[in-house]
Amino acid sequence: SEKAPVDLRACVEEAVQLLSLQRDKTEVTFANEVPADLIALGDNQRLIQVFINLLSNARDASPDGGHIEVTGYTRAGQACVAVTDNGPGISPAHRERILEPFFTTKEPGEGTGLGLAMVYSIVEEHGGQLELVSPAHPETGRGARFIVQIPLAEL
Ligand code: ADP
Ligand code: MG
Repeated sequence: SEKAPVDLRACVEEAVQLLSLQRDKTEVTFANEVPADLIALGDNQRLIQVFINLLSNARDASPDGGHIEVTGYTRAGQACVAVTDNGPGISPAHRERILEPFFTTKEPGEGTGLGLAMVYSIVEEHGGQLELVSPAHPETGRGARFIVQIPLAEL
């Protein structure tokens, strides 16, 4: 697909807005802390899809009143966006399987098991990387953090 400069903060904002339209009984809040000048080389629509998938998983995993934080930074010529929740995290046994198409721990009708497989293939298309840190909060043993790395538009 065509690659162009993509404002990652704006992508995250679009994903947050979209998910906020789905009225959510658990009142999970999102903080978009991605800096305004983080510009990746990519496909805008596909990158919005990455954040929709990661943020909806984070929300599904969150407790009532949970808080999801999205941060951004550069590392080794790559733009990084990290999505961190305060859910239970992901066990080592599940960690090996979460990228498999149709792997889900959700009830039938609640999850397709395709979200992370799609995230992975979009990240691969961009020549990027996907990293999982769990627990995201070592002091409590809770939380998952997915870090998406995409090449910067300009080095
Ligand atoms: P789905 O959301 O339809 O189950 P995904 O591919 O998006 O499919 O995710 C696969 C599985 O990975 C989920 O069912 C869940 O077990 C696990 N998972 C993904 N994100 C998180 C998260 N933030 N916290 C805990 N578990 C997660
Ligand atoms: Mg999902």
